[in-house]
Order: sequence, then structure tokens, then C-alpha cells
Amino acid sequence: MQARYERIFKTAESSLSVGCLYTLLFIALLSTLACKALAQADTLLYNAKIVQSDGSFVEALAIQNGKISAMGDSQDILALATTQTLTLDLQGKTVIPGLIDSHIHAIRAGLTYQREVSWIDTRSIPEALSRLESAALKAPRNTWLIVAGGWVEAQFKEHRRPTQTEIDGVAHGHPVYVQLLYSAVLLSSNAAQAWGLTPVAKKQNKNSNGAQTRLPSELLSRLTVQASESAETSGWYEGSSRTISELFDRLPQPSFKEQVIGTRAFFTELNRLGLTGVNDPGGYNLPLKSYRGVKLLGKTAQLTLKVRYNISAPRRGYELVDFQGIVKTFAKDDTPPFLQFNGLGENVSWSMYNNDAPTQEDQDQLFTVLLWAARQHLNVTLHWNNESSVDKLLDVLKRVNAIADITPCRWSIAHLNDASVSTLVAMKSLQIGWLVQNSLYYQAERFALQRGNPSLLEVSRFNTAKQLGLRTAAGTDAHRVMSFNPFVALQWLVSGLSISGTTTGSPLERPSRLQALQMYTRESAWMSFEDQTRGSIAPGFWADLVVLDRDYFSVPTQEIGDITSLMTFVNGKVVYPANAKVLASIPTHSTQASAQQQPSTFCPSKKFGPRGFCVGIFEPNGQFCAIQ
Ligand SMILES: [Zn+2]
Ligand SMILES: [Zn+2]
Repeated sequence: MQARYERIFKTAESSLSVGCLYTLLFIALLSTLACKALAQADTLLYNAKIVQSDGSFVEALAIQNGKISAMGDSQDILALATTQTLTLDLQGKTVIPGLIDSHIHAIRAGLTYQREVSWIDTRSIPEALSRLESAALKAPRNTWLIVAGGWVEAQFKEHRRPTQTEIDGVAHGHPVYVQLLYSAVLLSSNAAQAWGLTPVAKKQNKNSNGAQTRLPSELLSRLTVQASESAETSGWYEGSSRTISELFDRLPQPSFKEQVIGTRAFFTELNRLGLTGVNDPGGYNLPLKSYRGVKLLGKTAQLTLKVRYNISAPRRGYELVDFQGIVKTFAKDDTPPFLQFNGLGENVSWSMYNNDAPTQEDQDQLFTVLLWAARQHLNVTLHWNNESSVDKLLDVLKRVNAIADITPCRWSIAHLNDASVSTLVAMKSLQIGWLVQNSLYYQAERFALQRGNPSLLEVSRFNTAKQLGLRTAAGTDAHRVMSFNPFVALQWLVSGLSISGTTTGSPLERPSRLQALQMYTRESAWMSFEDQTRGSIAPGFWADLVVLDRDYFSVPTQEIGDITSLMTFVNGKVVYPANAKVLASIPTHSTQASAQQQPSTFCPSKKFGPRGFCVGIFEPNGQFCAIQ
């Protein structure tokens, strides 16, 4: 079926070139115009609600050679159909540009995805436990089951964390590791035993200075075990984000094959949620060898979304020399337009990473690397959490800019939820973009606890940023902490409401639905210099598109987070549903009679195109159906 699908595209291309050649030979003067007139479509989407950059809608579009070639009324666009065109009647469905998460650790997530159990979007503890149990029943014996974040207790109707007894009850003997944000982990009793972390072992360990634990004593000393040994709390261990990251790294490591399979599966899951691109900022614990899997997928044409990646400093103290080496060689085996090196970050200099009180020496170290990057015209993205210390970062950026102009390089600062107006003004003057994520959707209460309730209204100044002309792109910072679901992030952007209903940000600062969508598409594309080729639906742009299961522009706000993709296109090709699934639905015969012989359960509506050729529709139940 895959081969047949590709044949549709290849045949269309060859008939086009023969037509153009004919025209060139006989009507040389009119050749260009004639070619355009002959330009026909590989794929047509019609009877749809397709959003344009200005917020208006069109009914139909044509795709040719991976790009949008025409847009307009259904009737006009259908006139471009040939016998080779895949023509899809979308039955009024909404089509948006493919979403691009501007800050997601997608490469790191892919490495371990195959052996992980996702709790994102679960609504109750039994639902979460049943996902764990079905994974337990499939996984090879004794393998660890890992829930790597992406959930909080507030999403469960029970409003509590699961217990060790509960996970033991569904694990079927597998050791289980459940991470909550970067603050705590729950271990099954056998996992705690395996690491020597049972409450008894902990006490013994204290007495014997760590000798009986399998974790290094220094790491153990940073873990807090819940004091009570009741069934409700035992098995939970708390620690700093660094400690939890190190615990995660002590889990059994996936093989290279698992990394590749996991990456492919994760990207398909992102396609299901309407993503056609990710900007990956490297980050903590992502050695360069971690990129081998995604590079292999690129080389073998198996990437189903576009990856723009920045590289974080591999080694503390060797930042400049490491970056100099990376820039020379690392991107040579990239495979644009799918896999493309974008620059440095989010950790550029270890001494300024998660450091709210940097010394002059720390600042100088970052300055040295950034000055070199600016002179190389490299893109840079920088991780910074807190407004209270961002002046230290801005000072360095201003010093660099005084020597080497950074304004054309599209640098960005990630996070900084509580950026003040003056910080946004300073960023704009340096032409630095702002990467915002929906961490407050999950952590509003924690934020308020740390800084007091009024602080929650002093965050997310999105409309101020827009008025300043500051390029502001959205994302999730998934995973391990955050869910990677972009529609949950979009819901939070437009409503400001956390998962437990707490208001974050001022209502005056909230973007409209269109603006939020643009933060997830065009603005993300700007960060990799691609806002003129991706992130909008317009002629000449790549056909990275999503057909939604419901209308993003009119569903109640609290339902935005439930939206998924019915069909995702990257460069004009269907990447979701996964090819086997969607293409199996396309019968191999091209006559109406043979199409009618297909199982009636599949295509109950039996619709045919105006000329009796290839037509796809969505049945009332949302199932995709294609008939030729
Ligand atoms: Zn970060
Ligand atoms: Zn990050």
C-alpha cells in the first residue's frame, strides 16, 4: 500500500513534466504560463474549513510536490483533479497548519519511549493503572515499567497520587518507576528493593553509611523518603530536579534498536496530536551519541516530523571547544528538510544553567561562548527560569551585542514565565524571541506556594509581548515533567486555567485562539528561520497540515485539550494515521464497481468524486475512508 501511495505521487509528477516538456517544445513563448495552467495536484482537500494566517477560512487547497499550490473554493480547486489525484472530501472539518512545539525534548523522549507507559490525559487512578497493567502484560518478564512524568495528581478525579500497593497490584512482577514532575518518584516494592531503597534498607543505610544500598551514598543522601511507612506513602521518594534526573538515568538503558523504535513511535504519537515539527533544545543529560537514532531515521526517510535541534554543552568547562568541534562536523549527516541543526542551547554554559546567583566569572564564561556564537552567526536558545535573576543573563547578552550584532540571529530565551515588561522590552531590543510553555498548567499551585498568590497574575504577559513585536512561540518542555499534548497547552494559553482551575496570568494578557495557534506554528517556525516556508497555510508553503476531529475555533474552551488529529500531513504526505492504517483503506481497484465490493463496514457512505476517481471522506463517526 505504501508503494501504491508513492506511485500516485510519482505518476502525477511524471505526467506533469511530460506536459510541461510538450508545452516548452511547441509554445516556447508561453511556456511558463502554460506549465502553471497544467499544474495539477497530487492531493486535494475540499469541503473543509481551512484557516489562513489572517484568521479567514477557505474551503479547499491543492498540494503539489509537497507544497500548497492553490487555495480557494471547492469547485475551483476540484478542477485541478486528474485521475492521479488523491481527492479528500473533509466534510466541513477544520484544517490548521501543522503544530510546531518550539521547546520540547523530543529526541531525549524518543530514546526511552518504547519502554515507557504514558499517563498523559488519564482522568482517574484506575485508568492510569490499567495502562500500566496492559503494558505489564505485554512487556518481557522482569523489564522495568516506567512512567516518565507527564502527569500530576490534580488530573485524577481522586486528586491524589497512586500508592505503592496500587502499582504493585497491576505490575505482574515488573519493577515499576513512576516519576512526578522533577520532584518525586514512586517505586514498586520490588523496584525499591532492587535499588536497596526500602524504608528498612534506608535506615540500615543511614547506619552503615550507604554500604547496603545500590545507589551511591551521595545520591541517596539527597533523597527524602516519606517518613510514614503507611501504604499510602511508602514507595515515594522526593528530591531536587538534579537528583530525580540522576535517578532516572539509573534505570536500565534502552538498546540502540529500542531507541530507534521508540523515537519513531514517539514521533507518530506527536503526529496523532497534530505536531508536524519540533524544536529540540538538547538539555540535561543528552550526550551527542543520543542523536544517532534520530539521524538514522532521517537517513532512512522514516522521520514523520521535522526536527530542528540545538545542541547543549556536552561538558562543563569545555563548552567553547566542544561547540567549535560540533559545529564543524555534527550536522554533516543531517537530512533537511526533516532533520536540521539549528544552533546552540538550551544549556550553553554550565555555570549559568539553573544558576540564579552567577558570579562575574560565571557570566564571563557564558559571554565567551556567546560572543563566539554571534561571530559565527549561530542561533542560540537559552534556558532561564526566573525574572528575579534574568538581568544577569541580559547583561551578558547586551555585552555580546555591543561587540557582535546578535539581532539577525533569532536567539531566544526559554521559560521565564514571570518576565516583566522591562525584560520583554530588553529582549525585543536585542531581537530575542521568547519560548513559553504551559508548565503553570500543572504547577500553578506550586508556583503560588513559592511566591504567593498575587504572583500568579504577574505571569504570562503574552499580549504585552505581542504589542512589543516580540516573537513569542509556544511549546510544552515535555517530557518527564510535562505532557507533550499541544492542545492542552493551547487550552491553557487561551484560558489561563491550570489543571485544577486556578487562574494564571491576567485576562488582558491572554492570546486569542488564532494568536495562540500562531504561537504554536508560525512563531515556532520563526525560531528556525522558516516562517516564510512553514507554519502557515498559504500557497508556496510546505503542506504541513492537520485535519482536526473537532473545530478548534468553536469548541468550548475546556474541550480544546481533547482535540486530536484525524489526519496529519507533512510535506503533503499522510503521516497520521500511520501509513499502513490509512492506506489499507484505499482499495486497489479504480472503478466504482470494485470499490463497491469493499467491506461495507469500512466505507458506509460510498462517496465518489465528481469524475468517479479517488475520493476520501470522513464518516460521521470520524473514521477516515478513501475510495478510488
Ligand atoms: Zn529549560
Ligand atoms: Zn527544556
